[in-house]
Amino acid sequence: MSSTVIVSIKGLTRSFGDVRAVAGVDLDIYEGEFITLLGPSGSGKTTVLRMIAGFEKPDSGSIELAGKDVSQLPPYERDVNTVFQDYALFPHMNVISNIEYGLKVKGIAKQDCSSRALEALRQVRLEGYGERKPSQLSGGQRQRVALARALVNRPSVLLLDEPLGALDLKLREQMQIELKELQRAVGITFIFVTHDQEEALTMSDRIAVFNNGKIEQLGTPREIYENPISAFVSEFVGQTNKIMIEGSRINIRPELVSVSKSAPSGNRSLQGTLRDVIFVGATTRYLVDTHAGTVISVVPVADLRVGDAVTVSWDKEKEFLVH
Ligand code: ADP
Ligand code: MG
Repeated sequence: MSSTVIVSIKGLTRSFGDVRAVAGVDLDIYEGEFITLLGPSGSGKTTVLRMIAGFEKPDSGSIELAGKDVSQLPPYERDVNTVFQDYALFPHMNVISNIEYGLKVKGIAKQDCSSRALEALRQVRLEGYGERKPSQLSGGQRQRVALARALVNRPSVLLLDEPLGALDLKLREQMQIELKELQRAVGITFIFVTHDQEEALTMSDRIAVFNNGKIEQLGTPREIYENPISAFVSEFVGQTNKIMIEGSRINIRPELVSVSKSAPSGNRSLQGTLRDVIFVGATTRYLVDTHAGTVISVVPVADLRVGDAVTVSWDKEKEFLVH
């Protein structure tokens, strides 16, 4: 990732009737970066992406691509490509023809179209699938073709709107890793939209957390997760305990809470009763009822039984105070 700004968004707004979909977004995106726009449904992510692509006009504000204001340019005059969740492949064309199509329309020589299409097919690890029709591919393979169709144009920026949303969990997790590796290999700037916080944490160099048409926080996955600047961010990204203590509400991550039958290990502690132990594969969740509500820990502990009197504790410094 370089220090050159490739996309610069300033004061971007867009309303639909009474709905302020995008309510003032400023964002600089660096060349070669994998940035994710993360937020709940309706928070304005797609609208921002569509304005970068040129499918939607801003009410105010500007978008620069490689130093040039493109706000008033049509989509085809912008050096960006979009990958959508529904692959929108041509069903009657085979994979290679689907990938070549855009290049042919641009009038690129036939031979170059073929070699570039084959290269794109290799990049998405679908060598040997060129002759198949989309109907002869799995959902994950179709999504790779859609990706190849965008990559073949060698855009400087690739926009991806929930591209993995239609895949089942296992395949989605696999594609997250592949997509990240592919992005590193091709060096194209990816602007990725998702409402899935785990996906955002897994893939991104930086995350912009959206809330009500605005960026609530911008930072690396670690910054966002460890130092959320608001209750919204700490609750939207990762799991959190919401607890009332001494009249204020605090949030604490379950992995920072320990449970024991003896002395507490942190400088904040609550007495309680172990209500339940839930096995969720890689982790175990301990639910402890306290006077301040149920507290969840995921720190493994031996020899506890439901009904035991226990202490939950954590370090005050690790809490997040909710204003
Ligand atoms: P997200 O992608 O984060 O789910 P969107 O950008 O799609 O959010 O939508 C933001 C808000 O703008 C929502 O309230 C949505 O209903 C509204 N909106 C988006 N596009 C349109 C449109 N074409 N017409 C009317 N309302 C829209
Ligand atoms: Mg959307």
